Amino acid sequence: ILIGTVFTLTSTAREIRLSRLQTDFVSHLSHELRTPLTSIQLFIETLQSGRLQDQERIDECLTLLAQESNRLSRRIERVLEWARMEAGRRVYDSERVEVQALVNQALQAFESQTMLKQTAVSIEVDIPEGTPDILGDREALVEALLNLVQNAVKYNSAPCRVNIRARHDGPRVGLSVEDNGPGIPPHEQKRIFEKFYRADNLLRRETEGSGLGLAIVRAVIHGHGGRVTLDSQLGRGSRFTLWLPSS
Ligand code: ADP
Repeated sequence: ILIGTVFTLTSTAREIRLSRLQTDFVSHLSHELRTPLTSIQLFIETLQSGRLQDQERIDECLTLLAQESNRLSRRIERVLEWARMEAGRRVYDSERVEVQALVNQALQAFESQTMLKQTAVSIEVDIPEGTPDILGDREALVEALLNLVQNAVKYNSAPCRVNIRARHDGPRVGLSVEDNGPGIPPHEQKRIFEKFYRADNLLRRETEGSGLGLAIVRAVIHGHGGRVTLDSQLGRGSRFTLWLPSS
């Protein structure tokens, strides 16, 4: 009876926590979707009003409009992707992926998201010669790596340094993203991979996010038969490593 009671209480507590996280997530998400949408409406109204006379200002407004709508579609895409994953409908390709090409693609995507323009970021890449190809789904892996790079910059204050390194250990390739950010306290290191979970740090309050990023990363890597490891010390930065099967 005692074991049964403890078990019921623990699982009820877990359910309550998850349900609270989900409620937080929904309100957070509506805020996240509403912010770019409000800007889009504002820019459209400004253009419609004819208040902007010179072409330069009109172009500026159109650029911002394009940026905000990209932001909105990225966020919607992430939630849809999560829903596909939860429904177990995500299927991964198994092709040979060159590590350097994978890193290049993720960095290109990162730069095109204009984050580089806002903060001073220096990114170093070290992929030793002879690193074998990875066996997996190129797009899903790019997305996982991109998520780690985005976090490395998002939770860091300038001057921000990010190192991307590849390592080869038996039948596995380790691809790590290391930053010089605030680090993650030991008691949060497991939980940050849970869906909807956002660690409590000061920067988090100022950064946008839904707590899905690392849960998606972990699901993608597990879907490849790999694993994700984290080494981090408060005040010293973090290193996330994706261990993937080599081809
Ligand atoms: P989101 O970024 O949407 O909050 P994630 O699942 O990507 O969600 O991250 C979960 C939490 O882990 C973040 O809220 C943040 O507190 C912490 N975190 C993730 N990456 C880093 C990092 N590189 N440095 C410090 N904290 C991090």
